Amino acid sequence: MSVEAPAKKVSVKDFRADLHNDWCPGCGDFGILASMQTAFAQLQINPDRLAVFSGIGCSGKTPHYINAYGFHTLHGRVLPVATGGRLANSGVTVVALGGDGDGYGIGAGYFVNSGRRNVDFTYLVHTNQVYGLTKGQASPTLQRGRKTKSMPERAIQDGINPIAMAVAAGYTFIARAYALDVKYTASIIAKAIQHKGSALVDVLQTCPTYNDLYTKEWYEGADLPEKRSRLYKLEDKGYDGVVKDPSDPQELIAKKAGAVARSYEVDPIPLGIYYQANLQTYEEAVSERIPALATTPLAELDVFHRDVSPLLEAMR
Ligand code: SF4
Ligand code: MG
Repeated sequence: MSVEAPAKKVSVKDFRADLHNDWCPGCGDFGILASMQTAFAQLQINPDRLAVFSGIGCSGKTPHYINAYGFHTLHGRVLPVATGGRLANSGVTVVALGGDGDGYGIGAGYFVNSGRRNVDFTYLVHTNQVYGLTKGQASPTLQRGRKTKSMPERAIQDGINPIAMAVAAGYTFIARAYALDVKYTASIIAKAIQHKGSALVDVLQTCPTYNDLYTKEWYEGADLPEKRSRLYKLEDKGYDGVVKDPSDPQELIAKKAGAVARSYEVDPIPLGIYYQANLQTYEEAVSERIPALATTPLAELDVFHRDVSPLLEAMR
């Protein structure tokens, strides 16, 4: 089932909800929200055919600020709910999002198990190295030995590597963006949405309230004598993570190895598409996996008027 286009041309303002926004001034979440709305308009997505799911955290409020269907789910549980939404109605574009603590910590099991299904959704992770909503405790992406202004002691555990984790889990589109570069982040989000399969975009997000290490000035190199950015775009160095022949296992392995290798580059940090392969999606294999959904999406089945008395009788 293809996603229905809007009846008239839509613009960024068609995706803005008229609700008070209570993020802190200067929060990188504003950049990610603007990037999402820009990407939706670029792709001419029908707001009536768009569902945005979120976990818990500052970023979890995002669906409230977008004019589309929204579902603010539980801590770490956004992916199973988004998966259910997508399987129930394949005529809807599904975008899930949440913080790095939500997705890579509390929701790590769901993150891994969602990757191996390759359901067609886009997952945006707001990576700010802290749990912002609960006053800035270290999240799983903070590296060992680091201490933000909200922490009494240095982090005593190693940080995780989200890109390497996504490669291992089986995501078929893996990219990184920077929240304060709206134009570039919007372009990456648009490519992630266009990709058929599970897409992860790890977005480096500033949290000026609790994280005084990974700030706008730090990412953009204002403290360096040469004032060079600590970020670079993979395509500017000739790297292309797109798998040309997904039936070739050697190419798949080589591109995965390339993505993992680049995910350990720490200065400058690569942005862009680390890995992309067009492989069979869960929906394309649904007839062998969930035969009942092969012909009609759950959202269109008349489940409310079904006679369940034989089922109840059988359970007596
Ligand atoms: Fe943004 Fe940090 Fe404030 Fe949360 S606490 S709204 S992440 S700046
Ligand atoms: Mg966080």
